[in-house]
Amino acid sequence: MGWEENIRRVVPYTPGEQPKNENVIKLNTNENPYPPAPNVQKILQNFDVDQMRLYPDPEASLLVQAIAETYHVQPEQVFVGVGSDDVLSMAFLTFFHSNKKILFPDVTYSFYDVWAELYHIPYETIPLTETFHINPEDYTIPNGGIIFPNPNAPTGVFENLDTVEKILQNNPDSVVIVDEAYIDFGGISSLSLLEKYENLLVVQTFSKSRSMAGMRIGFAIGSEKLIRYLNDVKFSVNSYTMNQVTLACGAETLKDKAYFETCTNKIIRTREQAKQNLRSLGFVFPDSMSNFIFAKHPEHDAGMIFQKLKEKNIFVRYWNKPRINQYLRITIGTPENMQALFTALEKILQEKE
Ligand SMILES: *Cc1c(COP(=O)(O)O)cnc(C)c1O
Repeated sequence: MGWEENIRRVVPYTPGEQPKNENVIKLNTNENPYPPAPNVQKILQNFDVDQMRLYPDPEASLLVQAIAETYHVQPEQVFVGVGSDDVLSMAFLTFFHSNKKILFPDVTYSFYDVWAELYHIPYETIPLTETFHINPEDYTIPNGGIIFPNPNAPTGVFENLDTVEKILQNNPDSVVIVDEAYIDFGGISSLSLLEKYENLLVVQTFSKSRSMAGMRIGFAIGSEKLIRYLNDVKFSVNSYTMNQVTLACGAETLKDKAYFETCTNKIIRTREQAKQNLRSLGFVFPDSMSNFIFAKHPEHDAGMIFQKLKEKNIFVRYWNKPRINQYLRITIGTPENMQALFTALEKILQEKE
């Protein structure tokens, strides 16, 4: 049919499965196993529904202000969006607008190539080292922008700030985006580099460490200039991305720093214990600084383990892709979730294939 030739055709991103069955132990999308800060519940209880007649604040000031205070930056340095996926998508549209290729790792968040294709941005993937690390020397070729997660997904590998800074030093003419979705689980944020690099954008999310994946809140912090450009594009697409309830809940959760730290510390402790347990079952993995572990077993096929876990109602993430098709990405749940996982793995590994 003729009309079909004029259509934009894309291969969409595939999110992890959200099973309808409630009995599933869900270790497949890096959600937080603990509830959001208790004060969020109060905001919902007291919310005046009459407010819903009105459009929300297009500047999202309540949330922007709260993020600026939490991270000790100016409100003009903060951009918010509907999850960091929205923020990243806007950042691709805004900052990656040259004819030169943008660069990102070969093993990384699988949304990057989807956005690059969608917006017709040329790109080149740079292989990670054998141990899944970034070699900053690989990012010295001419480019139209650079993006990588730190810690990386789905490997969990954290790069120290020397690596990030080397990339910034070598690329004064590109916007460099550091996707810090997992930074609160023990890594060191690149936010401290903002003072020196006007072309650095740091992106974070409330979905993982703040237990609010369902509310969809992400944000970027950068120089006032970068944020202004980002807002110009956002206001050219949709002025009202953040709804009133989300703004109120997001701003509120930032007030309870103690709860946030307790939760992230619990997850870090569970992760360190999980590393020992996985190792004793024979799994190998790059050291993780995130809320997941990217593990493979030298003697058992990852696709097979994935399927057998699923049959036992334990969901983890598996990609049948080059370099990573023998790995499972396992989200850190509660200690009880993890115990169920280890018990199931033990059984699976004993079975004859
Ligand atoms: C989870 C994730 C995101 C997106 O999270 P949102 O829920 O959209 O905030 C972005 N980048 C990476 C690397 C992630 O793992």
